[in-house]
Formats: sequence, C-alpha cells, structure tokens
Amino acid sequence: MTEADQVEKLIIIGSGPAGWTAAIYAARANLKPLVFAGRPKSVPTTVLPGGQLMLTTEVENYPGFPDGVTGPVMMSYFERQAVRFGTRIVTDHGQTPDVSNADDGHNYAYHDCKSVDLSQRPFVVVGEDDRSYRAHAVIIATGATANWLGLENEQHLARNGGGVSACAVCDGALPVFRDKVLAVVGGGDSAVEEATYLTKFASKVYMVHRRDQLRASKIMAQRAEDNPKIDFLWNKVVVDVLGKELITGIRVQDTVSGQESTVEIGGLFMAIGHRPATEFLNGQLELDAKKYIRLKDPYRTTTSVAGVFAAGDVVDSVYRQAVTAAGMGCKAAIDAERWLGEQGVE
Ligand code: NAP
Repeated sequence: MTEADQVEKLIIIGSGPAGWTAAIYAARANLKPLVFAGRPKSVPTTVLPGGQLMLTTEVENYPGFPDGVTGPVMMSYFERQAVRFGTRIVTDHGQTPDVSNADDGHNYAYHDCKSVDLSQRPFVVVGEDDRSYRAHAVIIATGATANWLGLENEQHLARNGGGVSACAVCDGALPVFRDKVLAVVGGGDSAVEEATYLTKFASKVYMVHRRDQLRASKIMAQRAEDNPKIDFLWNKVVVDVLGKELITGIRVQDTVSGQESTVEIGGLFMAIGHRPATEFLNGQLELDAKKYIRLKDPYRTTTSVAGVFAAGDVVDSVYRQAVTAAGMGCKAAIDAERWLGEQGVE
C-alpha cells in the first residue's frame, strides 16, 4: 500500500484542550488519530499549537492542578498523554516527536492544516506542504483567537505574565491583579462582563471604549453604569502599553480631540472580540452568523457534514474555557468513534 492509498481513521485539526482531549480519547479507542497541531509563526496560520493557553501564564481554574500550572506546561501534559496512547502528529520530519520527557513547551516543527475537502469520502485534509491526507472522520478543534490591539508591548507583557490578558475569567483572580486599578478595552457584552467580574478583585476598573456609548445589550450596559467600581473612558483608543516587566499604565488618545494622556493601571484586559478559526473550511461546514461552526445538535459534536465533528472554542462563543473545551473534545472523540463503528470502520 502506498502512502497515497492510506486512509486514516481520524484526523484531528487543532491542539488546544479540545484537540488533545479528543486525541487522548480517540487514541485509547485505538483510532490512532493523526493531529495537525499547527504552527505558531506561519502566517496565515489555521491552528495555534496548544491554542489560547499558550498565551496564558498561570492557569488556576483547571481542576486537578491545586497549585496552578502555566498554560504551555498544561498543554505539553495534554500532548504527552495523547502521544502516550498512540496519537501521531504531522511534523516536518513526518514523525511524531518524542515528547515523553518534555515538561515545558516544545520546538518541533508541527504542521498546519491548509485546507480540507469535505465533499469527498474519505475526506481530504491538506497540510501546509500541500501533502494530502485522507480520513474517514475529522474532528475540528481549531479554536478561536482573541483579538488584540497589536501593540508591541501589549504582546510582550501578555506573553510574560506582565499583567495583560484577553480573558478576565481566566486571569482576573490572579494575585497580581488584586486591589489594583485595572482597565478593560472594548464596549461589547464581553467587555462589560469582564469589567464586572474584575470589580470583585480590583479597587477600580476603567472601561476604555473608542466611542461614546457601549455596544453591549441595554441590561448589561446598565449593570456596568450602576457599578460604583467601574469608570468609563469614552472616545479613547489605547496607543501604547507602558511598563517593562509589569504593566504600569496605558497611553490613550482621545478620538475627538486627538489629545494623548497616560492612565496608571496595574492590569489590562482586552475584550474586543474573538475570531473563530474557520476560514480554512472555505464554506464547507455550516457556520453561524459569527462564523463559529454550527452544531447539528447542541448536545453533540456533529456538524452539517456527517463524519465531521467539532469541539472547543471553534463552536463555543459563550464559555471559552479550557475545561469546557476539553469536555467537548471528549464528546467529539466518542461521537467519532461511534460514527466510525456505524460505518464499519473499526
Ligand atoms: P463585540 O460585540 O464584537 O464587541 C467588541 C467590542 O470591541 C466593540 O465595542 C468594539 O467597538 C470594540 N473593538 C473592536 N475592535 C477594536 C479595536 N481594534 N480597538 C478598540 N476597540 C475595538 O464582541 P464581544 O463583546 O466579545 O461579544 C461577542 C458576541 O458574544 C456578541 O454577540 C455578544 O452579545 C455575545 N456575548 C454575550 C454575553 C452575554 O450575554 N452574557 C457575554 C459576552 C458576549 P465598537 O463598538 O466601536 O465596534
């Protein structure tokens, strides 16, 4: 049998909590899943290896880690567990790396998935090197990316635990933010939700919005306006993030007067929307209005194409948590295993 004849039982696209959990379950079910784990620096990239957790420092709310764990270390544990049971990963060398000793991030050249053809059976998944792989079933767990402002120091501090984050629920309770003046950028429901959540820990929360009214729903907006710990900085855009190791403030520019000023803060949270990684699907799966994959049945992971399953943030604009994504990854593997069984693929 040549390589071109080979048909995988299951290909998993994505390597966040959903993708690796799907791989753990599928591997233990003897499906020998093949994972496109993605590439950090390839642009445009479909998959961020390890997902959003690679941008998170301390994870304190994932059960089983009473002392917390960093996002990259947690993802390396997920990966090791998946590989231990026979998960294979598409890499430059065509081999799954030995991840058994890694207790930190990794430097392997994992491949991104470039496109899929879901109209053929078996399905075709094309890697970044244009090589085609065929599979009876596919799980999509490509996640969603938080939007950032794109400022250099914003990224530096976000990656180094310097007090900049895109998830208040994930990071807001960390000691570094306690009793500090914090700021949330954005004017939508997420921004209000994050600002309100942060008032539990912060001495004060600024909502920095580029217009003079919130986009958030009326009830949410009212909640923010009524909260004595929330102050609004209207018509302001953040033009710089200040601080070397830890954030000390932001430079904001007034969109009306053009004047710049400095606001001293001890933490900055982005809430300017998320982008689900669904572009590479090229319209072959049904998406919702926000471009998240639409599940056929909200309690399952089935999509508009039989044999294609989806899990994690790529379907979920509501919870976006590592533990909920992992739960969905488990469901996707079980759904895929049952479906393959029904098709006679054991
Ligand atoms: P969103 O509604 O798209 O709001 C994004 C906000 O970020 C907007 O206020 C936007 O400003 C601002 N923004 C975007 N790009 C920016 C930039 N480069 N610089 C500065 N500001 C920028 O996103 P979301 O709040 O994440 O909500 C997404 C969806 O989930 C919405 O449908 C929302 O209703 C829903 N949601 C619901 C709940 C809830 O009901 N509990 C909670 C969270 C989210 P402009 O207003 O000027 O465009």
